Amino acid sequence: MQTYERLFLTVTLSKFYTAVLTKLCGGVRVIDLLLYKPISYVDRRKSLSDAKVGEIATFIAKVQKHEPPGVKKKPYKIIVESNNRCIFIVFFNYSIKYLYKLFPPNSTVIISGKLEIFVGQLQITHPDYVLLDLNQFKETACIEPIYQTSRGITSKNIKNIINFCLKDLPNLPEWIDNEILNKKGWFSWQESIIRLHQPNSLAEIEICRERLAYDELYAYQMALKLIRTDNLKRKERQFTISNKYKDQVLSKLPFQLTSDQIKAIAEISEKQKSEYHMINLLQGDVGSGKTVVALFVMLNAIENGLQAAFMVPTTILAEQHYNWIEEILSCTDIKVALLTGKSSRKEKKLIVNELASGISNIVVGTHALFQDNIIFKNLGLVVVDEQQRFGVMQRYRLIEKGNNADILFITATPIPRTLQQAIYGDIDCSILKEKPQSRSKIKTVAINIEKVQNVIDRLKIAIDKGEKAYWICPYIEENENLDIAAAEVRFQKLRKVFTNRVGIIHGRLTQDEKNQVMFSFKKGAIVLLVATTVIEVGIDIPDATIMIVENAEQFGLSQLHQLRGRVGRGNKPSFCILLYSGYLNKTKLKIICESQDGFYIAEKDLMIRGSGNILGIKQSGHIGFKFADMCKDQGLFDLIHIANDIKELLDIFGYENKLNL
Ligand code: ADP
Ligand code: MG
Repeated sequence: MQTYERLFLTVTLSKFYTAVLTKLCGGVRVIDLLLYKPISYVDRRKSLSDAKVGEIATFIAKVQKHEPPGVKKKPYKIIVESNNRCIFIVFFNYSIKYLYKLFPPNSTVIISGKLEIFVGQLQITHPDYVLLDLNQFKETACIEPIYQTSRGITSKNIKNIINFCLKDLPNLPEWIDNEILNKKGWFSWQESIIRLHQPNSLAEIEICRERLAYDELYAYQMALKLIRTDNLKRKERQFTISNKYKDQVLSKLPFQLTSDQIKAIAEISEKQKSEYHMINLLQGDVGSGKTVVALFVMLNAIENGLQAAFMVPTTILAEQHYNWIEEILSCTDIKVALLTGKSSRKEKKLIVNELASGISNIVVGTHALFQDNIIFKNLGLVVVDEQQRFGVMQRYRLIEKGNNADILFITATPIPRTLQQAIYGDIDCSILKEKPQSRSKIKTVAINIEKVQNVIDRLKIAIDKGEKAYWICPYIEENENLDIAAAEVRFQKLRKVFTNRVGIIHGRLTQDEKNQVMFSFKKGAIVLLVATTVIEVGIDIPDATIMIVENAEQFGLSQLHQLRGRVGRGNKPSFCILLYSGYLNKTKLKIICESQDGFYIAEKDLMIRGSGNILGIKQSGHIGFKFADMCKDQGLFDLIHIANDIKELLDIFGYENKLNL
């Protein structure tokens, strides 16, 4: 076994941990866990004499005395002594039995926690660590990484699992030029991973992150190049475009195409006709009507006797697109299939057969599309909708099935031109700038959460008049449970006003439950939908007209714009209400209130994030990079030069499974 192959072994954990960590880290192979980046760090290196009040101290102390409170509800105190200083360790809501176990009288313990002064007395309330094994002092008085958690797992649990993975960590052959390594002062990959989780100093954390970001961007660029190298081949047969279906379908559409849509379809058709395989990006603001463009591009492939696959990130979206396409194409002889993780075994079998024999012309589906047993008779076009939600390798796998199929990537988040090159490399791009005529402007206002009752009153009036609304609850980065808890609380409050006409949707519902809720919302049994940010990108419920976003100050600009794009889809006037609390970034909310231009907002978003905003990468909505920050790391792109002998390089690393893209 190659030494680095150990990185790809699956870590044996309980079923529960495996499930939770798969969700948090994307998998439970050693590498998945090692690449799980701490969200922050706590410096526990200060001793009792070095730490000031308000700072964290870690020290060894002797347990002097337990002091139970005289009256109920008062805290329990344990008096300890360290270097001739007396410290009170304070507990509210305690179990005496537990505290005796934690602080046996006369024992010596390690304590780590935040120093406070209370009526002149040094104290620590609920210390973070109390350990009896003094050998653990060194590993406690360190810089502690804090990981994003979820229900049933703590940051400490994750730390222990990662520390286990760090044992015998192999190094990888170095792929960064010595010159760059020296110039940047970067460590080896191995050293960077170790120090990311067990840093010796706060300063080196950023150095490690930057190196790992470079690795990530390098791998990403390499995969892009791989797709392109594979794709830029001559077609076996020239495309002809006779618009066989076009008029039929156009007359079925309940609207006129916008001139941007017409232009994009013409541009992409031209590429399809070229003697080389096409790889094209379709960018367009939310609600600009990208799906219909994709439909016409698929029709071109079909009239040339080829099949088209339409890949989307979620089952709800797949069903939505499928229903719409099926309906529009009912006037033709084109056969459309739907394949998702939800399809029954029997359905799957049927679809697999129809794709292999060529009976189905179009298949709409989720990840299920690139499983091994799916074979196409002659796949000629792959459309990847909301492509930022798929990993590069996932896309690559589907494209491979087509043996050089044409590719159309669709992206929901407009990307500033400066970044497009970096993210997609040199692929062609068509843009939908203009929105369909019927779109009314979405009136956007920011309101302090203190006035939430007014908002609810107004909402009630609107809903009684027949409007539909979304209510998005705060996004809490550290912990998904808090998200859901917040949404539940809001849901219960709104229920009092709207009774059973309010529904809730969040990440812990099963796909079936989610579908059911969305269906009720669509049909109007539910008219107010409370949601965490899982609210699916791309969801199209044209008669929803009100979007309320709670804690709007915590969202990124692009994300707010995306959320707002869920309304204003029909011809009724629409509203977006941004509820904020506490500190308000005026610039940010002003931009979103005043502009509806996704491209402009995306530029501003990056600028703001660049000036020290703390929004997570997850929210940037572009690509799920673990380390790279599209704004901070723009300079790194210039350092990346992918050699032409890319295949050889990839062979060295066994790219298929190893790059962890
Ligand atoms: P997105 O670009 O966000 O993926 P969709 O393709 O989902 O947008 O389109 C959003 C809505 O706009 C759909 O209901 C679609 O039928 C409608 N639509 C698309 N093109 C037009 C048009 N030219 N005129 C009016 N409505 C349109
Ligand atoms: Mg869409």
